[in-house]
Amino acid sequence: MFKDKVALVTGGGQGIGKEIALLFAREGADIAVFDLNQEALDKTIGEIKALGREGLGVPLDVSNFKEVEQAVQKVVDKFGKISILVNNAGITRDSLLLRMKEEDWDAVLNVNLKGVFNCTKAVSKIMFKEREGKIINISSIIGIRGNVGQANYAASKAGIIGFTKSVAQEFASRNIQVNAIAPGFIQTEMTAKMSEASKEMIINQIPSRRLGEKRDVADLALFLASPNSDYINGEVIRVDGGMA
Ligand code: NAP
Repeated sequence: MFKDKVALVTGGGQGIGKEIALLFAREGADIAVFDLNQEALDKTIGEIKALGREGLGVPLDVSNFKEVEQAVQKVVDKFGKISILVNNAGITRDSLLLRMKEEDWDAVLNVNLKGVFNCTKAVSKIMFKEREGKIINISSIIGIRGNVGQANYAASKAGIIGFTKSVAQEFASRNIQVNAIAPGFIQTEMTAKMSEASKEMIINQIPSRRLGEKRDVADLALFLASPNSDYINGEVIRVDGGMA
């Protein structure tokens, strides 16, 4: 499906981002990955190459505007274009608001929201020239319904939704579609930190009675990156087993 396409996935060293990167590679795309973690990056790129596709891993912090600009240029130097951007890198620094430190607010907003701005701005210049593109932003159901102990995370993920709807309108005339995915609770390294008791409590709130799989999110990303979704723009789609 993605012959001659180049996808850039942020936070693709592990978790949902890695699942998306490998799925897109299996569909024929060449893949660039931005991630903080060099070791995880090398592993993902190795797996992409084993699938017979080209891969480029750039270690960086998505919240650093300059680093992102330079890294996007590296991707263009290697592949000539970027057809798909998946803004997936994200972190949590949970605590009740009364105890939340300023640095926990700043870190989450910087990575989760400013990171999306940085990558979208740098990549959009390339997509504008190509007059086509797909941008998929990974939000969260927490950005829709909020959550105790996650005011910073919820604000960042709600911010992504507003960003997605605005940029979708700005880019539509250039044949670039911008959509967001709002996952519920997905089994990844991020949710592995939760206690069994909290997991049990969450599963009881999910009508599908299970946590999501990374593949549940990757399959929607595949659809949103494909021509099958060309008339879907500025949308937020939940992948949460009916939870929200
Ligand atoms: P994850 O397993 O923690 O993976 C996130 C990846 O992003 C890691 O490789 C991480 O590197 C990287 N990263 C973190 N900060 C970065 C930065 N500043 N610059 C570049 N890369 C950075 O997370 P996940 O569970 O797959 O989540 C992926 C996305 O889905 C996130 O945006 C998350 O908010 C969202 N989401 C997840 C769930 C869920 O249930 N898992 C639900 C809703 C939404 P390090 O390992 O070095 O930190």
